[in-house]
Amino acid sequence: MTQQTDPILKGRFSSATITRRVDLTDELFKLWLAPADRFPFKPGQYCTIGVDGIERPYSIASAPSEDEIELFVEYIPLPYGELTPLLHELKVGDTVTIRPRAKGLFVFNPEYKNHVMVSTVTGVTPFVSMLRTYLENSPRGGDRFYLLEGASYLDEFGYDEEILALEKLHPEITFVPSVSRPDDPRNSSWTGAKGRINNLVLDYLSDTDIPTKDTLVYACGHPGMIEDLREKLADTGYAYTEERFWKDDE
Ligand SMILES: Cc1cc2nc3c(=O)[nH]c(=O)nc-3n(C[C@H](O)[C@H](O)[C@H](O)COP(=O)(O)OP(=O)(O)OC[C@H]3O[C@@H](n4cnc5c(N)ncnc54)[C@H](O)[C@@H]3O)c2cc1C
Repeated sequence: MTQQTDPILKGRFSSATITRRVDLTDELFKLWLAPADRFPFKPGQYCTIGVDGIERPYSIASAPSEDEIELFVEYIPLPYGELTPLLHELKVGDTVTIRPRAKGLFVFNPEYKNHVMVSTVTGVTPFVSMLRTYLENSPRGGDRFYLLEGASYLDEFGYDEEILALEKLHPEITFVPSVSRPDDPRNSSWTGAKGRINNLVLDYLSDTDIPTKDTLVYACGHPGMIEDLREKLADTGYAYTEERFWKDDE
């Protein structure tokens, strides 16, 4: 590639090196990226990375204070996925391009005291960043976090160990993971909540007496979950914000 056509040298992209990779299942993996240039972002924002000119946005799980950018990715095999088949091949030491600026308005909102964070699988990533950041910045007190996370299988939660550990240390954090296929042999050891997470949220809000005042419901991940949750919350008075990872008709 010549100096004129190399997008990194032209300054439209920077690069990032993979320093660590963990595969959770055949489809789910985490990547840690060391950006070549400083990469400031707000908890909840996303970065846009690429391989061979194919780029996609990824929410960031790490806190802005961390040296590396941590991503949680679902592999979409060919012929459906374009970038993830390439990402899935990458090893420690390989590089990706990264757009120089983080983007996104789906960020922690300190105007509210109760943060109800609803996600499916990789949709938990912005909430991990928000929680890590909140806890490291001398919390102001009075905030409550309710993480309601849905997955088909128990090995898809990705951050359950970290969030359960935080829940033990911080009474303001509550974690409710739910599997939607409880009868599948893969979930045979599951003893937690059952059902699609969007079907549990309204009952949870009322059973837990979470007031509409001072509460923001955040939803991130599968567009079907988001669409349904948005409809369910429409007349409830809860403030609501969402981040869709893809469109339902794609
Ligand atoms: C703001 C934003 C943040 C995102 N953050 C993440 C993230 O943290 N982790 C992540 O894995 N993806 C995330 N995505 C989706 C990501 O950008 C890619 O679309 C996805 O990784 C698939 O890329 P692809 O090129 O292989 O397939 P694409 O060509 O992008 O998509 C092919 C098809 O795969 C399906 N699909 C896309 N993403 C997913 C997914 N995550 N799970 C299941 N099916 C999917 C859709 O039906 C889509 O039409 C995010 C998207 C947006 C808009």
